[in-house]
Amino acid sequence: MKAAVLKPGRDKAVRNRHHWIFSGAIRDLPDFEPGEILPVRDAGGDLLGHAFFNPRSSIAGRMISFGSEAPEAAVRENLERALALRRTFFDPAVTNALRLVNAEGDGLPGLVADLYDDVLVLQSATLGMDKLKPLVVDTLARALKPRAILERSDLPARREEGLDQVEAVLAGEPVDRVRVLENGVPYWVNLAGGQKTGFYLDQRESRQLVRAHAAGRKVLNMFAYSGSFSVCALLGGAVRADSVDSSAAAMSLAQDNFDLNGLGSESGTFFTADVFEFLREPTLEHDFLILDPPAFAKKRADVVAACRGYKDINRLALKRVRAPGLVLTFSCSHFVDEGLFRQVVFEAAAEAGRRARILQRHRQALDHPVNVYHPETDYLKGFLLYVD
Ligand code: SAH
Repeated sequence: MKAAVLKPGRDKAVRNRHHWIFSGAIRDLPDFEPGEILPVRDAGGDLLGHAFFNPRSSIAGRMISFGSEAPEAAVRENLERALALRRTFFDPAVTNALRLVNAEGDGLPGLVADLYDDVLVLQSATLGMDKLKPLVVDTLARALKPRAILERSDLPARREEGLDQVEAVLAGEPVDRVRVLENGVPYWVNLAGGQKTGFYLDQRESRQLVRAHAAGRKVLNMFAYSGSFSVCALLGGAVRADSVDSSAAAMSLAQDNFDLNGLGSESGTFFTADVFEFLREPTLEHDFLILDPPAFAKKRADVVAACRGYKDINRLALKRVRAPGLVLTFSCSHFVDEGLFRQVVFEAAAEAGRRARILQRHRQALDHPVNVYHPETDYLKGFLLYVD
């Protein structure tokens, strides 16, 4: 039977249950259809598991099962395990917007599945996962019985796989917008043309943190998108919460989320502006600043420029926060790890000439698990700083 065979000594990562096989680790590949699932063997012929292969990608193979487990059975089981984990932690009467499948974090390379109330949104980043879509849709549809299943595979990463951007309705009727609950707070989620699959689910725990620390403070929420941090700050007793985003559509969505939560126009202003410029203008005095920028480093080669950007906004934020105040600062670039991000924040504080202490550290919410065998699934990190 045909199989992919690894070079001698290049089987360690796969033996350690890492999902990726780089082309340089492969000794022999048989003729195969792009996206096909093949057995993977070490140089001595031992079966390591099964992977789907795409000759166009530098990550030539992605493991979907390990050892002798059949690949389709492993996909089905990993989907069920992913759902079981979420059922343990979420009560749908309190939180009905969650990530059900977090790609390699749940052992399913390239697959994201998010649930927004009764609408399921799928995102596939790889050719192999595209081919497994019928199996995924069937398994999740049976388990969840959603009103609609939408596909939002509009990721730049698909280009490297030779795939088009896809936005489609896989089952049910098209849905543009859905109202969800997160920790009892309602939000509008834009499913058509929104960012990510619709909502930054990964910040759920940080939203709770903002709610806990906002009482009596004047909050400036930068890179605000849906305005969710502003909503939580106000529900937590903030005096006001102003929001900044370069996208007018985002600021209009944030306004809708204020309306949905009964927050009036005195609660805060929405600025459609570039944060790099906004922070240089004199504005109202805030004593709680939030910085949640998009990933500045999308690949390793971007790290130096990204750190310059992170340092810039953090320096400006640390300079202008009223003391004693708080700065909640994030990086969602996988390539900027927590140690490097702390270094950047340290340099920003030094250049701003402010005393800053880290009170808490944050990561992506628990429905975005990090696979211990595949640390690339770790990307979001944040610090709550106290400035006095
Ligand atoms: N905190 C948000 C998610 C932030 S996503 C939430 O909880 O929902 C990053 C946001 O930054 C996007 O909405 C994007 O429009 C915005 N953005 C990107 N570059 C920007 C810039 N230079 N200035 C202001 N906003 C920017």
